Amino acid sequence: MAAGGYQGWGLATRAVHAGEGVDPVTRASSPSIVLSATFAPTEVAGFSARNRAGYEGYVYARLSNPTVHALEEKLAALEGGERALAFASGMAASHALLAGRLSAGDHLVISDTNYVGTAELVRDSLPRWGISVTPVDTSDPARIAAAIGPATRMLWIETPANPILRLADIAACAALARERGVRDVVVDSTFASPLATRPLELGADFVVHSLTKYIGGHGDAMGGAVIGRAEALGALNLEASVHYGGVLSPFNAWLILRGAATLPLRMRAHQENALELARALEAHPAVKRVHYPGLASHPQHALARRQMANFSGMLTFQTHEPGEAVAKRMIERLRVIHYAVSLGHQRSLLYWIPTAAVMASTFRLDAPAEAAYRAFAGEGVFRFSVGIEDAADIAADLAGALAG
Ligand SMILES: *Cc1c(COP(=O)(O)O)cnc(C)c1O
Repeated sequence: MAAGGYQGWGLATRAVHAGEGVDPVTRASSPSIVLSATFAPTEVAGFSARNRAGYEGYVYARLSNPTVHALEEKLAALEGGERALAFASGMAASHALLAGRLSAGDHLVISDTNYVGTAELVRDSLPRWGISVTPVDTSDPARIAAAIGPATRMLWIETPANPILRLADIAACAALARERGVRDVVVDSTFASPLATRPLELGADFVVHSLTKYIGGHGDAMGGAVIGRAEALGALNLEASVHYGGVLSPFNAWLILRGAATLPLRMRAHQENALELARALEAHPAVKRVHYPGLASHPQHALARRQMANFSGMLTFQTHEPGEAVAKRMIERLRVIHYAVSLGHQRSLLYWIPTAAVMASTFRLDAPAEAAYRAFAGEGVFRFSVGIEDAADIAADLAGALAG
């Protein structure tokens, strides 16, 4: 499928067909896995990223591989971007973008609450490389505006943000960054998926996904991706894919390609089950509070309705009883839900995230920022990735573990 050949299609058709097609040689209907690490060029071609001599065919799999390329075309089509680059994990994608776009002396403004790996990478590693970092509450554009300085090159938001499901207004953030001369606006859209939100259409420059989550969707393949303009991603391919080397394996690309075909169907099921579970938990006597962007009780429900075409399957809840005791019962009793990290799989997954521990280890917020975090999370939250099992079975499993 030539790039852009999907332009007239809806998202469900893109999910099934973009990047794929009948094999012209074998007439195979479904995509084959090309495992080859090296390729025999048809002319004397360049040997390194700096010396490609204009050859556009495949040369070496760290630069590009046909199965990985097929997935990249599907991802670009789903996000409405010119090009996508796949990596070995979401963290490899995030690292590639941060290291590939920022230099010593640059300044990054980033959400003070986000995926823990990203939070630790920007706080612990970027300053060692001479890049300064200001974490802010990106749900408030005034705080972003106050944090932007002359050296700010990148604004990084995550919406909904892990683990507290706080939202950021992508269009407002992108407009603000543009006005203040910030070159790159990045959105980690892993929790939303392209079914909910397409940040490039709202003014962002780059979208990041952990493909390990909703897009792969089955918990059996790690992967990550950056989606954006062709020129920027071409440069990132030559630097980050080729030299940092965290490329996706063709086998994982094939698994994720297969998973992504059912993304629209799965997201509808995730949303339907999550809404039912969120309502059941809100009414449950053991539960103190539920956060779900699709509930009217979410403090940013109006923004969620505007920005998310699907409320996704992620919710958090707090219990009256101390969370650790409840978590211990969950480990013993849950059968349908797995007490495990990660999210976006067909299986329901649930995990206890205590506020004190993440404050001490990961987010290290100042007192006002910690107070804002606690307004969402209290002493901690159960992060619940609602799967696509029967909602009644998920609810019964959970009720069995909540009962003291
Ligand atoms: C999981 C996750 C990542 C990291 O992805 P991996 O595939 O685990 O490396 C990044 N951002 C968000 C929001 C995530 O949930």
